[in-house]
Amino acid sequence: MAEEKKSLNFIEQIIEEDLQTTHKREELKFRFPPEPNGYLHIGHASSICLNFGLGEKYNAPVNLRFDDTNPIKEEQEFVDAIKEDVLWLGFKWEKECYASDYFQQLYDWAVEMIKNGDAYVDSQTSEEIAEQKGTPTEPGTESPYRKRSVEENIELFAKMKNGETPERGHVLRAKIDMASPNMLMRDPVMYRCLHKSHHRTKDNWKIYPMYDWAHGESDFIESISHSFCTLEFLPHRELYNWFVEKVSKEGKLKPKQREFARRNLSHTVVSKRKLMQLVEKGVVNSWDDPRMPTISGLRRRGYTPNSIRKFADSIGVGKRENMIDVAHLEFCAREDLNKTAPRVMGVLDPVKLVITNYEEGKEEWLEAENNPEDESAGSREIPFSRELYIEKEDFKESANRKFFRLTLGKEVRLKNAYIIKGEDVIKDSEGNITEIHCTYDPKSKSGSGTEESKRKVKGTLHWVSAKHALETEIRLYDRLFSVENPDGDKEKDYMEFVNPNSLDVIKGFVEPSLKSAGIQDKFQFQRIGYFCVDKESEEGNPIFNRTVTLRDSWSKIK
Ligand code: ATP
Ligand code: MG
Repeated sequence: MAEEKKSLNFIEQIIEEDLQTTHKREELKFRFPPEPNGYLHIGHASSICLNFGLGEKYNAPVNLRFDDTNPIKEEQEFVDAIKEDVLWLGFKWEKECYASDYFQQLYDWAVEMIKNGDAYVDSQTSEEIAEQKGTPTEPGTESPYRKRSVEENIELFAKMKNGETPERGHVLRAKIDMASPNMLMRDPVMYRCLHKSHHRTKDNWKIYPMYDWAHGESDFIESISHSFCTLEFLPHRELYNWFVEKVSKEGKLKPKQREFARRNLSHTVVSKRKLMQLVEKGVVNSWDDPRMPTISGLRRRGYTPNSIRKFADSIGVGKRENMIDVAHLEFCAREDLNKTAPRVMGVLDPVKLVITNYEEGKEEWLEAENNPEDESAGSREIPFSRELYIEKEDFKESANRKFFRLTLGKEVRLKNAYIIKGEDVIKDSEGNITEIHCTYDPKSKSGSGTEESKRKVKGTLHWVSAKHALETEIRLYDRLFSVENPDGDKEKDYMEFVNPNSLDVIKGFVEPSLKSAGIQDKFQFQRIGYFCVDKESEEGNPIFNRTVTLRDSWSKIK
């Protein structure tokens, strides 16, 4: 992991400069402004960690503001999920705010603007308005309604508000400059008629403000000092400032919009709209499907808040968009889980191992350390008996010298137990191995202090006692998309790149201590990877999600 960065990132530099010139420290205030039209994804984690991270660094308040100005796409379910995710990441907001709480204030300001000749009602269709926009090199054409009288504008705007104007009937536009080189300044729409019920304001409003009109004013109302958004809003900055200027009062701090680059993750899509498609088309089961790059999906898969925060911090903020390899996110999960996840044994693809010189019916409970990285994690006892399961791939009848696992005539250690030697195999009529027979060295018990227990053998295998093991469902996940950038092909839709094998459900055997594992408990299955108990588990019968493999096998396959 990258060591503590001492130099300031460009966002921090902006703030430090402002503290030298225009801003007092106690005026610093930030916000995270999600639109509640879906679940948060790993890209949002960057924005959350940026804004709340600045709050922590400067001891400044950070609001959670729902940008809920479009009732067509927004729902209470998304509001609740967003709050849960931000809290889970370990951040606390100063105030929970909603743009919809400012609808009346925004309306009053719009009326003021009409009175000051800064806004007018346009009765053209959206197509006509679009045609008059011009091009970046040619000025636009002024609307025939641009010179409407203040009285008429006030009357029509009131009608819009009261629902007397049909949807698409009129819009309210800011009167700026149809010849501006910035197309967004060519009389942008401030309000549209929309007769939709809103998840909070219900049927109170028949007009809804556009993003540009609502966002800066919301920042202004909340006294946000710095409003950080992604780069696509750079050309909106001029308009943001224009709108704030229209309503600002003497002495009140004006918010400052600054932009940073979106973060993209490989082998997935980070767009609520596209993620919603995956849910709606049944490609995944839900927003929190463990294959999803949503915060809730990552949580269910077994990611810790710490691993996601470390990920966001390590990629930092930038001025250029880039694609982060998902392997880096997985690395962050491994790093954190290595320190915190208890070790257990589980066999995913079992074959029976019989220790022919071990007494039938005998069982021993062997001590096993819970986490070599954390002494305070203590130890537990695991059962050992004559018949065990080991992984199929840990045995080869005949193998070359580089194979350090079990083979006939060679010795390996069973983790926390004894040294065994491969003796024989039993096969079915088709030649498949059904049992491996071996002998053990009774004096070689791990930790027993004997000469034999200290004997070095090349390989160590994980295992479970067949009689005691718990059979469980294990869900193995792979990349959701089979290409690095599903959006990268202009000819093809991202949906065409969905990996059909992103989920493999298998039956495995795990040590019996896992019977009592609770939902969200995380473990390292030794030699295999990190696993987390899924929320669909029933008491005493855990289902495991593989969070990540122990090592990065993907980059090798590539
Ligand atoms: P989406 O297309 O997924 O809906 P959005 O930008 O429209 O993304 P918002 O809910 O408006 O989503 O975003 C809230 C905040 O998170 C905004 O400030 C936005 O710029 C930021 N954000 C969204 N996606 C990313 C990303 N991939 N990387 C960094 N910041 C992001
Ligand atoms: Mg959006």
